[in-house]
Amino acid sequence: MKWQGRKRSSNIEDRRGRRDTGRRTGGSRNMPRLRMPRGAGAKGGGIGIVGIVIILGIGLLFGVDPMALLSGNVPVNNAPQTTRSNAPVGNDDLAQFVGVVIQETEDLWSDVFEQNNLTYDKPTIILYSGRTSTGGCGTADSSAGPFYCPADQNVYIDLSFYDTLRRRFGAPGDFAQAYVLAHEVGHHVQQLTGVLPEFNAARSRLTQEEQNLWSVKVELQADCYAGIWAAYAGKENLLERGDIEEALNAANAIGDDTLQKQAQGYAVPKTFSHGTSEQRKRWFERGFSTSNVGQCDTFSVARL
Ligand SMILES: [Zn+2]
Repeated sequence: MKWQGRKRSSNIEDRRGRRDTGRRTGGSRNMPRLRMPRGAGAKGGGIGIVGIVIILGIGLLFGVDPMALLSGNVPVNNAPQTTRSNAPVGNDDLAQFVGVVIQETEDLWSDVFEQNNLTYDKPTIILYSGRTSTGGCGTADSSAGPFYCPADQNVYIDLSFYDTLRRRFGAPGDFAQAYVLAHEVGHHVQQLTGVLPEFNAARSRLTQEEQNLWSVKVELQADCYAGIWAAYAGKENLLERGDIEEALNAANAIGDDTLQKQAQGYAVPKTFSHGTSEQRKRWFERGFSTSNVGQCDTFSVARL
């Protein structure tokens, strides 16, 4: 990806090298009423009260229960640590890279929202190392991988995750990393369009299997949005040869079936929460080839 020298977002908070600060950013914001394509069964809208907070990761680290984050009980011993540094944001390549990718997501989604007469309320990206507090999603722990916290509308990422992606899951490349960020930003778009609040509100009356299926639809839509972003990056002349393949390779590597087979030798479809490798690649490609949010409606298709 040709990102060097590009404008960088200022909505990055660098907590790397800090101990758990206990600092809370964001906090609950008023829910705007949006008319972007949203989930099936989205009647009414304007769901204000979030009963259960959901945490939406990339789905890479099979075996970690994201809900365990709520209690802060996720073990930290398997978490790779980044080099501790007190450098300000933007003084290292990876942070600069994140800043550029996030800027491009802001440009894209601001445009898309504006076309729908809406305002894109930008999320904050929290870079941390090891553990850090969130504003409503418990303690962020790098062992769970990057995630979006709907309660404070922040994306949390320990950049050592990219080493895990490359080494453990065989998904190297800067565009694989960009895909992960664009996917998490996709969850923020879903928060603004009402998809996540609706899921949150419904969870308590769903069985685990129903929740899993709903989760897969949410995740594949975020992959589709990441594909739309990849197409936008192409329009901005940021793509290099092999970039899209890097993203597709990453999507393939973190499919539920692939992860489960690696971990336990077999896959149990009813437990899938993010979609199969084939589905994740296909929905990314769908966003990439159409650049149309209306094509990312995973809630109304006959076959996911
Ligand atoms: Zn996700």
